[in-house]
Amino acid sequence: MRWWTDLWKLFFPQCCLICGNRLLEGEEHLCFRCLSGLPRTHMHLQKENEVEKCLWGKVPFEKACAYLFYAKGGDVRKLLFELKYYGNVGLGRFLGRCMASELLPTGFFNGIDGIVPVPLHSRKLKERGYNQSRLLAEGISEITHIPLYDDGLVRRKYTETQTRKGNYERWLNVNEMFECISHDTFRGKHVLLVDDVLTTGATLVACADALKQTPDIRMSVLALAMAGDI
Ligand SMILES: [Zn+2]
Repeated sequence: MRWWTDLWKLFFPQCCLICGNRLLEGEEHLCFRCLSGLPRTHMHLQKENEVEKCLWGKVPFEKACAYLFYAKGGDVRKLLFELKYYGNVGLGRFLGRCMASELLPTGFFNGIDGIVPVPLHSRKLKERGYNQSRLLAEGISEITHIPLYDDGLVRRKYTETQTRKGNYERWLNVNEMFECISHDTFRGKHVLLVDDVLTTGATLVACADALKQTPDIRMSVLALAMAGDI
């Protein structure tokens, strides 16, 4: 009944994506109650958080965190589907703004020179019409005024969806997946890699592998969500 949902949204666009209630003035995509109820990780406040541990020894990231936990059938999962498969472009920028607004006062973005969304392969970008990580990055940039560096890193390998693959296969799959085509863009800069979902961290490490040859580059990571026990 996807067509019916789409039609409904066309005529009644101001409903909360989670609870379905009509949105009030000032609310976007989610009602205030659902937005404030999303399971935050608060990782940006924790030393040696789960994401940092997941990336330890692979790439020297300066800061790393995920904003939300997601679980099977949970509300965050619903949002991720809207963002990735249902073309809800506005939601991506909105979630980027939410992350940035909450992390900005804690100093998370201090010293960051540019935001690098994890690129999609050009074929996938054509199929989907947008890169969900870029939407998040745009939202972050709106709040922080940190520029996007989105043309120096490209995805070379077209891969099948990784959701059904085991961890080892995922790591193999991302080997030399990305290529840095403009080291000048990143030279001497501290960049923030932005992704929608962090699973094993393999994709982010593959991005970092492509970027790390750049002289004096420093890298940090921010993902919208990671799997958690909630
Ligand atoms: Zn709601």
